[in-house]
Amino acid sequence: PNRDRVREQSLTELMAQAARFYKEQLKRSPVAIDYLKGRGLTGEIAARYGLGYAPEGWQALQAAFPDYSAASLLECGLVLENEQGRRYDRFRDRIMFPIQDQRGNVIGFGGRVLGKGEPKYLNSPETPIFEKGRELYGLVQARQAIRDHECVLVVEGYMDVVGLAQFGVGNAVATLGTAATPHHIQKLLRLTDRVVFCFDGDAAGRRAAGRALEVSLEHLADNKTLTFLFLPEEHDPDSFVRAEGPDAFRAAMNRAQPLAEFLLAELKKDVDLATAEGCARLVHEAKPLVTRIGAPLLRLQVIKMLAETAGFTQAEIEQSFGLKNASAM
Ligand code: ATP
Ligand code: MN
Ligand code: MN
Ligand code: MN
Repeated sequence: PNRDRVREQSLTELMAQAARFYKEQLKRSPVAIDYLKGRGLTGEIAARYGLGYAPEGWQALQAAFPDYSAASLLECGLVLENEQGRRYDRFRDRIMFPIQDQRGNVIGFGGRVLGKGEPKYLNSPETPIFEKGRELYGLVQARQAIRDHECVLVVEGYMDVVGLAQFGVGNAVATLGTAATPHHIQKLLRLTDRVVFCFDGDAAGRRAAGRALEVSLEHLADNKTLTFLFLPEEHDPDSFVRAEGPDAFRAAMNRAQPLAEFLLAELKKDVDLATAEGCARLVHEAKPLVTRIGAPLLRLQVIKMLAETAGFTQAEIEQSFGLKNASAM
């Protein structure tokens, strides 16, 4: 374990130095600076999030780190090796978003192409210090605003976090291009009592919301409020706040759909409640989700809503879910 600790420290140190290198390169790249300005970001916000630039060329990073062994550079994921054993920089000609853990250590990077190009984003691989399903981008910068607002906003992308911060909405964090995991949900619920999910308005964002809902159910508590903000189809949080301004964004946040309502809406989507079959099917489909809700009072409320929607009594629903019949007590 001691050896691992030493290795992790040196990886962390390497990542910190890489972040400094990319930051320095940004200062020297008018094209990269123009790109960020073109996206409405000031130098102040770029500095707050430690944004950088990975220069063109296959060896720029390696050339700047002559003291590090090839093994370390490979292990931290910033350098790759081809079949001929030739090493090359992973990130080239990209805007760099350092990903920090909750203590502020840089543990990975996301890199965006300037303009069009594939892939649009490239992320660090998992390493001994970077486990994707656990980290939330922007948490260090958001922590105080989360406390102040008693609310955390969860978005999809790096640019959403940074773009919102530019407009004074500082309490946003992003899952790292992955679906929300149980680790994410637990971490979020430890931070504060109110979580607002705001994914992109496209089909992928809608699916991400559905997954966040499912993953959240068992971690819910009766003193927690989770809501879902659905943006117009063509928007993501960054483009929305840019187009409509921070007041409109905050207003939309306050109108976000409560979890129970979203759950019911999702369940109702593909059933015909005008038929007995549809009503039965609704309750059938609801069972595995509703029984997983970890907040007893909220679960009771959802059962009541379900009963009303499908034309059953609360006791009938509870019985069909195999739950103790509360009204018989
Ligand atoms: P931008 O506004 O710069 O176009 P975005 O954040 O709106 O970026 P999306 O396409 O909505 O980009 O993707 C959301 C997030 O998903 C990104 O921030 C990134 O973390 C992840 N992502 C997107 N495309 C890729 C990809 N090709 N490979 C890996 N991760 C990706
Ligand atoms: Mn998207
Ligand atoms: Mn975007
Ligand atoms: Mn987006």
